[in-house]
Amino acid sequence: MAAMRVSESDNPAFQHPQSVWTATGTEVPALPTLQRRVQTDAVIIGAGFTGLNAAWELSQRGVSCVVLEASDLGWGASGRNGGMAVLRYKKPWSTLSSSLGEEKARRLYKLIHEAVDTLEENVQTLQLECGFQRCGHITAATNAKATQTLQKDIEWLSSSVQDNSPRMLSADEMREHTGSSIYTGSYLDKRSAGVHPLDYSRQFGQALLAKGVEIYGGSAATSLTSEGDWIRVDTPGGSVQARKVLICNNAYPGTLEQSNALIRRVLPMTVAVIATAPLPDDLSPAILPNGELVTDMRNLVNYYRRTPDGGLLFGGRGSFTGTDSPKFFNLLHSQLGETFPQLRDIEIRHHWTGHIAMTLDHFPHMGALGNKVFYALGYGGRGVALSNLLGKHLARLALGEKNEMVTMSDDHFEPIPLRGLHLPIMQTAAFYYRFRDKFGI
Ligand SMILES: Cc1cc2nc3c(=O)[nH]c(=O)nc-3n(C[C@H](O)[C@H](O)[C@H](O)COP(=O)(O)OP(=O)(O)OC[C@H]3O[C@@H](n4cnc5c(N)ncnc54)[C@H](O)[C@@H]3O)c2cc1C
Repeated sequence: MAAMRVSESDNPAFQHPQSVWTATGTEVPALPTLQRRVQTDAVIIGAGFTGLNAAWELSQRGVSCVVLEASDLGWGASGRNGGMAVLRYKKPWSTLSSSLGEEKARRLYKLIHEAVDTLEENVQTLQLECGFQRCGHITAATNAKATQTLQKDIEWLSSSVQDNSPRMLSADEMREHTGSSIYTGSYLDKRSAGVHPLDYSRQFGQALLAKGVEIYGGSAATSLTSEGDWIRVDTPGGSVQARKVLICNNAYPGTLEQSNALIRRVLPMTVAVIATAPLPDDLSPAILPNGELVTDMRNLVNYYRRTPDGGLLFGGRGSFTGTDSPKFFNLLHSQLGETFPQLRDIEIRHHWTGHIAMTLDHFPHMGALGNKVFYALGYGGRGVALSNLLGKHLARLALGEKNEMVTMSDDHFEPIPLRGLHLPIMQTAAFYYRFRDKFGI
């Protein structure tokens, strides 16, 4: 039987969260589900940014591939994130340079620029209408120590990679840039970019379909079986026989055995997001007037940006158990009020959660499981740019190229000790970090 088209409304598995991105996104035709046996060079599991980039890279090199998606384009973190493609890692440049050495830090600097450039190139080459804009990103400090760290980063960038573009903003300048008075200073990089993440996922997928890449939705990979030089990936409706398998499901392992083995190398976490109704005319002009994106430097991070409908998206941590607890949306609402007292009573129009995969070193990793199965995961909250980079390089790794991702390779990327106890450990850590954040330490 040929591939069947499934209407989005018919299949609960296709449904996206009620986010501001679904409310403001452009609908695209539903994906077909796989209902037959297919043979191809490579099969990609997951149609988020990683999987779509891997598929695009393979197709540009003339390698046939099939993308299997359990749900729909961008249904995972890719379609529900903050859409912030930031030119920094979680760790400051000065820390990276002192802990990894100058050479690796310089290489990481090049890679993060390549990541945002890859995103931009995809948007331009494939003409994706997804609000991509180099609107700038602010890393915001709420205490003197954090401000000093950012200052050291500015110095490292200038002396080690001759990059004089990012600059410090004083507390007063921060008030002008954000409309909030809680910051002691910050670091502005105007080259960081914002994107409508769901539109990027959907349009990217549609562009690949138009180029002949087969993408199936509602088609979860349920098992991988080795068959000589081939590997067979089964889905509920069909199967794909391929030479290589690229696992790109990050923090959404599903039931696939290999994904569950990989998930033991990361700490899955739920993040929660709220988005307000359009801001009132008297308040709106003072809140992020230049359209910049903001992430603070607290251990339990908050980030925010304006949304296409004129509201404000505000994100932070969620529960460690993966449930959508109202407690975390209420916490976000009160953090929003602390950051912007003028928005304390604003209507919260959307709230949703999503999963991220944290790693112990705060870097994503890509590598191989044997010689036919490849993976990339562990972006934490920094995957909007990096998943484009790793998706592209993962495809190259599967084609036999060397893994040159510095700290983002599979070196030392092992199952986390005491991983079974991660829940109480992370709950204790969250308590500890909240305490530190409260007292600015
Ligand atoms: C709420 C939220 C906010 C975030 N904000 C930011 C931000 O502003 N900036 C930033 O840099 N990063 C952010 N991130 C992180 C970023 O979104 C992710 O790192 C990135 O999208 C990961 O992309 P991915 O393609 O690897 O995974 P995903 O987008 O999660 O895609 C994985 C896909 O695999 C599919 N899948 C799972 N199992 C199977 C299977 N067995 N068969 C077939 N398909 C399967 C899933 O359905 C899913 O669609 C955020 C994440 C969240 C959740």
